[in-house]
Amino acid sequence: MIEDERKLLKRYGIRPRKKLGQNFLIDNRAFEKILETSELTKNDLVIEIGAGTGSLTERIAPLAAKVIAIEIDERLSPLLAERLAQFDNIRIVRGDILKIGLKGLLELPGVKPSTFSAVKVVANLPYYIITPIIINLLQQKPAPNLLVILVQKELAERITAHPGTKSYGAFSIACQYYCIAELICKVEKKAFFPQPQVDSALLKLVVMPHPLVKTRDKDFFFSIVRASFSKRRKTIENALLYHLNWRREQLRERLTKVRIDFRRRPETLSATEFARLADILQES
Ligand code: SAM
Repeated sequence: MIEDERKLLKRYGIRPRKKLGQNFLIDNRAFEKILETSELTKNDLVIEIGAGTGSLTERIAPLAAKVIAIEIDERLSPLLAERLAQFDNIRIVRGDILKIGLKGLLELPGVKPSTFSAVKVVANLPYYIITPIIINLLQQKPAPNLLVILVQKELAERITAHPGTKSYGAFSIACQYYCIAELICKVEKKAFFPQPQVDSALLKLVVMPHPLVKTRDKDFFFSIVRASFSKRRKTIENALLYHLNWRREQLRERLTKVRIDFRRRPETLSATEFARLADILQES
């Protein structure tokens, strides 16, 4: 397998570009795990971000109704066209996902998302833009139903982290607000060509039709979460005093009212507790 991808790139005279996050997957078990986790059906529309050499695209196509694969690097266009020519359900879009967005892909002429039973994003994401891509996908209306993505292991741990753990932070809450996140398995560096600096992990995000956290004002809730975690070494009371123009007694009274000990550290608060806190702070 490793020889195949290397040979293919060589034949087309393509040297992987680090700045585009070009670490191509070459491990069969990892491909299998991605497909198994995606639970593809012939009624699914799959969006692949970063088609690369088309190795994942060609494995997805026989299992899905349609694949729209976006790739920024025009050097890969002839390779993709040749490798994927046998499939009539693949559409390759050359462009930047950050500019085109999921919406742009779903609004392409001839694409009718409502005719599919699910929209799934399946991708070995370019690492330099994973965070904006994930947030952007989760905030879409409608959002994709499922994301099965390869990301840096450390980021996967942050996204799936529970309160009280080292990896837990504002980004964990931002993701868990929209979806149920599960770290499926670790994928070692050697599963890629060229090898990246860090290990990766396969992440499954099942996007909920409604946010999992109930709060009155989403933007205010997130501003409280961000403010709290920007001072994660302080107590929740001191972290918020740093950002809010409140008197200590006033804030302590609100914390007590929502049964949050003022001495707790922000990283021990669950998303639901942050929501209760944000709601009472906004009330006052
Ligand atoms: N899917 C292939 C695989 O699994 O081997 C390639 C994955 S590689 C990690 C990421 C791919 O995303 C690269 O081919 C890269 O050129 C492409 N890419 C990087 N930035 C992009 C962007 N902003 N929009 C679309 N594709 C991008």
